[in-house]
This record gives sequence, structure tokens and C-alpha cells, in this order.
Amino acid sequence: MDIPHVVIIPFPAEGHIKPMLMLAELLSRAGFTISFVNTEQSHHLLLDGAGIHRRCPGINFLSIPDGLPPDHPRSGASILDLLISTSTACKPIFKDLIASMSHAPTCVIADGIMSFAIDVAVELGIPAIAFRTYSATSTWTYFHLEKLIEEGVIPVVSGTESEELERQVRCIPGLEKILRRRDLPSICRLDPHNQVLQFFINQASKMRNASALILNTFDSLEAPFISRLHSIFPTVYAIGPLRSPAPHDSPSLLQIDRSCIQWLDSQPSRSVLYVSFGSIAVLTRDELLEFWHGLVNSEIPFLWAIRPDLVRDDNGSGTVPFDLKTERGRTVGWAPQEEILAHDAVGGFLTHCGWNSILESVWAGKPMICRPLVAEQQVNGRCVSEVWGLGLDMNCLCDRSIVEKVARALMEGEKERMLRSTAEIARYARDSISEGGASYKNFNK
Ligand code: UDP
Repeated sequence: MDIPHVVIIPFPAEGHIKPMLMLAELLSRAGFTISFVNTEQSHHLLLDGAGIHRRCPGINFLSIPDGLPPDHPRSGASILDLLISTSTACKPIFKDLIASMSHAPTCVIADGIMSFAIDVAVELGIPAIAFRTYSATSTWTYFHLEKLIEEGVIPVVSGTESEELERQVRCIPGLEKILRRRDLPSICRLDPHNQVLQFFINQASKMRNASALILNTFDSLEAPFISRLHSIFPTVYAIGPLRSPAPHDSPSLLQIDRSCIQWLDSQPSRSVLYVSFGSIAVLTRDELLEFWHGLVNSEIPFLWAIRPDLVRDDNGSGTVPFDLKTERGRTVGWAPQEEILAHDAVGGFLTHCGWNSILESVWAGKPMICRPLVAEQQVNGRCVSEVWGLGLDMNCLCDRSIVEKVARALMEGEKERMLRSTAEIARYARDSISEGGASYKNFNK
């Protein structure tokens, strides 16, 4: 029998490439031929910077242009341009690439927001599977954007203190008692005709053409919403939490700085709060300073991953005030996040609630402080704090007194209770991907 050839295409961002690459590695180890298609920029960062082809010799790395000019920053706040450009420019090039492959693909696994690749597969008669890199709960929420517009919930008012933000959202089955308006994805604050909101509605609708859905989640965390997604997809494979065979050597688009590990080694067990806002989200300079002073005032030791493009001001640019100094805290540009979370000195994680970060924290058994910023992070934050009991929510307020209070609550007041809940869910996560576990079985299917 022919060896199956799977073509995998992620959206060009860290939080999408990373889990899809882990899936690629697992399938490659299972004996499949894998073609992994990146945009040219991600391809060069992974090959030249991270040497990914040496680490994954069984995977064939290919690239296509993303449709943006070469000098476009493709990061932070400008990531929205990538959403639009990939959805308009990539389809014909991807189709030519697939058609020219000497080993005809058996299946295409496309990122749920690269649905042009699902269209191409369907047009060429190749089975297509969607991989949504979000949680099941968030994925389910995105399938109700049109309903939220019909019901007048979108646009949700902006600001952080309005009473309207506290109102329950009643039109998403299963989430009636969970989501408040403030917990809806950030795009729900846009005008219904906004291009970005329409992009996500369109992607969700086109994703339905896939014959199955893969999710990086696991039954014991999200069974109710995994099961609801069966009403949209004939087959749903929850195969998470995906783990790299060498998690402390995960490939990354950015250069990892491991120098902070030595400092962590010198800190007492469970004493340090790790802080990171992921690879895309941005803060204003004032927000960054509120976090900084709140952390310093809390007197909790902290380690903060501050990307060079983390700060953005209203004029479109910003600089991180690097003259900030404190005895108790350390900063690092791009951190070895999984290694940090696994470190014994780390007792908690102040996170923007990106889905990979949450899964990594769950795996490491570390409780979280949720400060969701954009995309589906609000939904994730609500689940972490209210549904799964794995952390505390900042309710989107980030002045220094609240940062100080919540840091103390997680690392002192609530510490033992939180560590017990997170240790239990970390065990379920391990069970799930071990032989005989639900995710293990789904992957084999
Ligand atoms: N990450 C990292 N170093 C950092 C910050 C983040 O390696 O300093 C990794 C993190 O481990 C995670 C990914 O970047 O796997 C971020 O993905 P996530 O879904 O959490 O957030 P996004 O960046 O997509 O908003």
C-alpha cells in the first residue's frame, strides 16, 4: 500500500505553527509522508533560525508567498493584514503547489483560518481536515458569530466598566450560564460589517466543508463542547494536549533566550510568577507600566517575557522602557516558555490566555492569572477562572493596585487550593495522551 502523504498548512503565527508542527512530527513518526507548507517568511525563520529541518528530517518543508510586501512587519498589531492577505493571495499558489506534487496528497490538514486550503482540497477531490488551534469552547463560540449579530449582541460596547458587559450571553447553546458580553472574542466589539469580523464568519462557514475537525484539546477538559461540535463536523478528533517530543527544545519563529533559567534555579520552589502575553498581543506603554509597578509592589518575584514589539502606542509605535529595574523581577525577550512553566521555582502564570499558553500551563500544573487581550482569549480566560477553576480573572482591569492584589492572591492566599486543582487537571492531561487515553485513541483513529 502507498504511504499516505499528508499536506499540512498552518496560519503564519507562532501559536498556529507550533501545534500543527507537533501534529506533523507525530504523523511523521507514525510513518506518514508529511509536506509542511509555511509562508516564505515563516519558512526562513524556521529553517535558518530554528534549524527545523535538522530536528524534523522526515518532514518536507515547503513555502508559498503570503501576499504582503517584503518589508511588512507581519507581527504584533499588524497580524490582521496577514489574515486578509493569506485569504486573498494564497489560494492559486497553493493549488499549483498541490497539483505539482509528484506524490499525490492523500489528505490536506488546513488551519481553520486558512480555509482557502480546504477549498483547494475539495476542488481537487482530496479529503480535507480542518485543524482549529483554539479550544473547543472558543471554536463553538466562533460558529455563533452570525447568531450574535442577529440577536444584536454584536457590537458589544467598548470600555471595561459598563454594566452591559456583565450581561449574560444567552444565544450560544451550552454557554448561557458561562459567558458574559465581556467574555466574547474581541472581534465582537467591532461593527457587524467590519472586514475582520466578516473574515472570521467566512472562515467558520468555509471550515464546514472539511470532512473532519482536529482540536488541540482533551475530553476531560472540554467534553461538552467537543461533543457539540459533532453537530457541525461528522468527525471531531480531540488529540491534545499536543506535546513536542522535545518540549524544552521547541522550534520557534523567534530566537529563544535561555539565560533566565539560571536565575530561576536560584529561586525557592513555587515562588516566581511567570508573565507573558504571547507572540502577537500588544500593550500600551501605560498598561505595561501598570503591570510593572503592580508586580513590583506585590513583592512577588517575577519573570516577564517582554518581546521587542510588545508595546504599541496610539501613534503606532512604542518602546519598552528598559530602564525599569527591580531586585525581585527579571525580564527576557523571548522565553523558553515550556521550560519555565515546568521549572520548580515557578508557582503561577500571568497570561494573556492564548490557547497554547493555557495548555502549557495546564500541563505544568501551574495556576493562572487571566488577562485576556485579543482574539478568543476572553473565552479562554472565562473557562480557566470560572469553569475549570484553574486561575483568577483580572476582569480586564489592569491598574497597578489590581495587579498587586491578584498576584498576591494567586501566589499567597489562594496558592494551595489553586495548586491542587491544577495538579489534578495536569494528571488528566497526561492520562489523555498516554496509551489508552482518549486523545491517544483519537490520534490513532
Ligand atoms: N512563547 C514562547 N516564548 C515567549 C512567549 C511565548 O515560546 O516568550 C510561546 C508559548 O510557549 C506558546 C506560544 O508562544 O506556545 C504562544 O501561543 P499562544 O496560543 O499562547 O498565544 P498567541 O501568541 O497565539 O497569542
